[in-house]
Amino acid sequence: MSEPTPATAPTATHSMKAPAPAKYDFFGVVQGYLDEAAKLINLPEYIRVILSQPKNEFIVHFPVKMDNGDVRLFKGYRIQHNNVLGPYKGGIRYHQDVSLDDVKALAAMMTWKCALMNLPYGGGKGGVKFDPRSVSRGELQRITRRFFHGLGDNIGPETDIPAPDVGTNGQTMAWAMDTYMNMTGQKGRQAVKGVVTGKPVASGGTIGREKATGQGLVHCITYWANENDFNLEGSTMTVQGFGNVGSHTSVILSKLGVSTIAVGDHSGYLYNPEGFNPHKLQEHVKKTGAIAGYSGGKAISREEFFKIKTDIFAPCALENQIGVDEARSLNCRIVGEGANGPCSPEGEKILLEKGITILPDVLANAGGVTVSYFEWIQNKRSESWSLDEVDERLEKAMRRAWKETTEMARSKKSSLRIAAYAVALHRIAQVYAEREIFP
Ligand code: NAP
Repeated sequence: MSEPTPATAPTATHSMKAPAPAKYDFFGVVQGYLDEAAKLINLPEYIRVILSQPKNEFIVHFPVKMDNGDVRLFKGYRIQHNNVLGPYKGGIRYHQDVSLDDVKALAAMMTWKCALMNLPYGGGKGGVKFDPRSVSRGELQRITRRFFHGLGDNIGPETDIPAPDVGTNGQTMAWAMDTYMNMTGQKGRQAVKGVVTGKPVASGGTIGREKATGQGLVHCITYWANENDFNLEGSTMTVQGFGNVGSHTSVILSKLGVSTIAVGDHSGYLYNPEGFNPHKLQEHVKKTGAIAGYSGGKAISREEFFKIKTDIFAPCALENQIGVDEARSLNCRIVGEGANGPCSPEGEKILLEKGITILPDVLANAGGVTVSYFEWIQNKRSESWSLDEVDERLEKAMRRAWKETTEMARSKKSSLRIAAYAVALHRIAQVYAEREIFP
């Protein structure tokens, strides 16, 4: 990350203690994109104002008995940004840095993402502030159950539908669903499976959900390659974050002949000019929780990682990873945003000036929520679709969103990010115009 800017310059009267670093204003950044896109399409001001803040913000504090007998108090968030198109939809993050403003930013992005993908959903996001690696499996289960108990009926299959995000997975969703079912009267239990998506297949999940975000990103990279006469076969990529999104992107792209030559996560960065075996690396991460200790590459620094010459760079970790320094270092053709908000606005400006194409998060990582929607429909209808059916529907949905975004960018001469926001805003604005404001 680039050097943090001091919040205040030290003066003679201040102590010599280092000033606190300015916090990255993620919500402010996302609001800035909203304002830019609103201007681009002349969005009525009252709609921009409504969309500039979430509809509901829940903060819950809940106690959990830890393995050693101590009771620890946790803080959880659920932000419901907008539901004009349908129930709130968005992931739950478990991470030590989770904050209200970041969850607000992520919830707003879900509103744009669902609208862009033409899903009957609004946007939401949640999280609990703790390091999931620091607790036992039993503690993780109790934290999840108490959190979802705390959210109570503020969520529900027709109200607000969580899913996995950083630090959570199918197992977390199975516990969440079971908790919600246990809070539902006996007679209604089987009807509420769709309260969360991203569940394991046996517990009501859909085939194809685990890889869906990576798959959607690969579709976008493929469309870009086709439109730019770029041959993916024999090309290279670097990936930051080798969790769900990063590892599946790497595995799927390897089948198209793309070689992953450098990877990184919080435990460090590895380089292998011959290309990693993404399946083996994925297995290693599943077993050990990190890329550290994998024998197939040379350890490099974060700075070296960002300087590696590559065709595709896929940031698949966290927000604000590509600031000014990283953008100046990057030597690639495209940045495919698997993560939400990985480029800071300053970083993005530099990348665009360097002629690097950015496939923006709200489009590039929308495969996950799209297949979550397929899971929700299957739950409603008590159906199980085949992988072919899920993959086919996902490809169609990604292709349509790609076409609408690139056409908007061409006609309005905007970046792909602002174009994607603009397509989403158009859809939302139409509904506000038709329904008007209550009362
Ligand atoms: P995940 O499975 O928990 O993986 C996150 C990855 O990021 C891990 O490899 C993690 O490494 C790495 N990471 C965390 N902090 C880092 C840091 N400071 N520097 C470098 N690497 C770091 O989460 P995920 O579901 O793949 O989500 C990744 C991103 O994709 C997030 O921005 C998320 O919002 C977005 N996204 C996810 C989905 C989905 O379906 N899951 C859908 C759309 C968007 P460690 O494990 O070593 O910390």
